[in-house]
Amino acid sequence: MKRSIVFLLLAFLLQSCSYSQSSKPKKMESTNKNNPVYSNTDSSQVNLSEDEWKKILPEDVYNIARMKGTERPWSSKFEGSKEKGTYYCAACGNPLFISDTKFESGCGWPSFYQPISKSSIIYAPDHTHGMSRTEVMCGRCKAHLGHVFDDGPPPTGLRYCINGVILDFKKAKEAEEKYNR
Ligand SMILES: [Zn+2]
Repeated sequence: MKRSIVFLLLAFLLQSCSYSQSSKPKKMESTNKNNPVYSNTDSSQVNLSEDEWKKILPEDVYNIARMKGTERPWSSKFEGSKEKGTYYCAACGNPLFISDTKFESGCGWPSFYQPISKSSIIYAPDHTHGMSRTEVMCGRCKAHLGHVFDDGPPPTGLRYCINGVILDFKKAKEAEEKYNR
């Protein structure tokens, strides 16, 4: 009698052990850093509380996206990058810019002259720090991205000065590159 109880217990332990092992890789794979709203294709608006954002965003992304912080100039690996691909919002995955519209502004932050579409960005007047600037935010989740200035190159004459921390870059697929050549 006792033996069968021990056996049952052992069987149970083994089962729970294998269960936890098999569930581990699933967690690792789950889309961007445990972020349930992250999607490169879903364009529906994201409205989360600041507490919820704090839970799902890495600290550096949270500080820019929600606290409207600014990363140190020249600190982003994207600043001088010329790789072909798409830049997405690091908070929600919304497509923001394509590499074709990126240019070297010399300002120390990744710069673009045009967003992917009109709805990918929203604008707001910003009078903080004694300046009069236009803030740009993600059109899907309202994450702070940076500012837009009117000293950019043609064809728009605009310079979208964006914090690299809030950008997720994905390389263009080879097939797309060939097609665009
Ligand atoms: Zn976003």
